[in-house]
Amino acid sequence: MNFLSLIEKKREGKILAPAQIQELIREFTAGKIPDYQMAALLMAIYFRGLDTAETTALTLAMRDSGDVLKFPKDKRPLVDKHSTGGIGDKVSLPLAPLLACLGFRVPMISGRGLGITGGTLDKLDSIPGFQTLLPTAQIIHQVQKVGCVICGQTDKMVPADKKIYALRDASGTVPSIQLITASILSKKLAESLDALILDVKFGCAAFMQTKADAQKLARAMVALGNQCGTDTRAMLTDMNTPLGRAAGNWLEVKESVECLEGQGPLDLLELVVDSAAHLLVQTKKSKSLAAARVAATECLQSGTPRQKWDEMIVAQGADLKAFNQKLARDHTAKFVAEVKSDKAGFISKCDARILGEVIRDIGGGRLTKDSRIDFDVGVDRIAKPGERVEKSGALCRVHLADSAQAKMAVTRLKSAFAISAKRPAKIPLVVEIISG
Ligand code: URA
Repeated sequence: MNFLSLIEKKREGKILAPAQIQELIREFTAGKIPDYQMAALLMAIYFRGLDTAETTALTLAMRDSGDVLKFPKDKRPLVDKHSTGGIGDKVSLPLAPLLACLGFRVPMISGRGLGITGGTLDKLDSIPGFQTLLPTAQIIHQVQKVGCVICGQTDKMVPADKKIYALRDASGTVPSIQLITASILSKKLAESLDALILDVKFGCAAFMQTKADAQKLARAMVALGNQCGTDTRAMLTDMNTPLGRAAGNWLEVKESVECLEGQGPLDLLELVVDSAAHLLVQTKKSKSLAAARVAATECLQSGTPRQKWDEMIVAQGADLKAFNQKLARDHTAKFVAEVKSDKAGFISKCDARILGEVIRDIGGGRLTKDSRIDFDVGVDRIAKPGERVEKSGALCRVHLADSAQAKMAVTRLKSAFAISAKRPAKIPLVVEIISG
């Protein structure tokens, strides 16, 4: 194919035909187009954009660049959730077993964290024995038998995205709404879903910093997902404050289990229940969101999702005895330091970005793709906006591997909190729902 003419066409702001997009993705995946030419096309797309037909063609061509999961016919709908990521965002962990107990099949193909946002697979890697890399046949078998799986993408799934994302990362072309939409949805569509709920976050610790940008991304993904035959909805959620009271890989698994036992923090519970409730409505298993919320809450309180969690992690190789022993420990990192307030008052701010940066710098996140993670470090007992704190009262605890980092971590974490004399107004977590 004459790839240069396609680059020139897009550089001039012209429209590429679906057949041209399919061919270029096929050829690039097969190694027949050099990276420098693909990077040039990505830059042209970054500046000129793609229209709806082009974005659809790109998404479907990327989906079809590798294996698409094929499940046997079954009355349980196939569903999943995707979050654009944030600090303390552990929703996927309790949500997958909850959805399985609500009569869904959940092929949750997840990713790893980079920079300040954690990744679901990194959290699961903190569980003794747990395997995140499963062959396609095992993914399908586990979804059919257990009802849910949380694992990584196999090498054979959406290989075009892996290659293109690496080039976008190296060429400054990640922040393009159409390229993000195609990247995220090509992976979700490869799961052959009936319904998808998206959690698109905005705020200081989110991929999209402003609500307006998050809205644009959410609208683009919802339109495309529905056009491609998957009932897709998005929640716009606040990510200025961490979700829950714990951030850091193992600490988040612990908090997820608390949520499955009906004890987790209310904001985490709200997002888990709302995600499940939307999927119940989208698949017509519930008539209204209110009824769906009741069904999801009752299911969570019944204790069956906690049992389903055990079943899921054992199916993926976890050592349940070692896991329960680890759960029983107050902390697994070597050192724990408390961050104390200098004055009494109400928490008016807890800056999620600062928390994320500290956790990354003490070893809990990746600076580069090859960084090794310390699963046991992190922050817990986080005081949330609206709560009262006394002078010398705790704002949070930091878990560290190296006591020499304690002073730096405590100082930076303290700067994440603001204390005011008056109780601040409650900030809503879910601010908008975007549906097709
Ligand atoms: N996450 C993805 O999977 N792809 C993007 O392009 C951005 C975030």
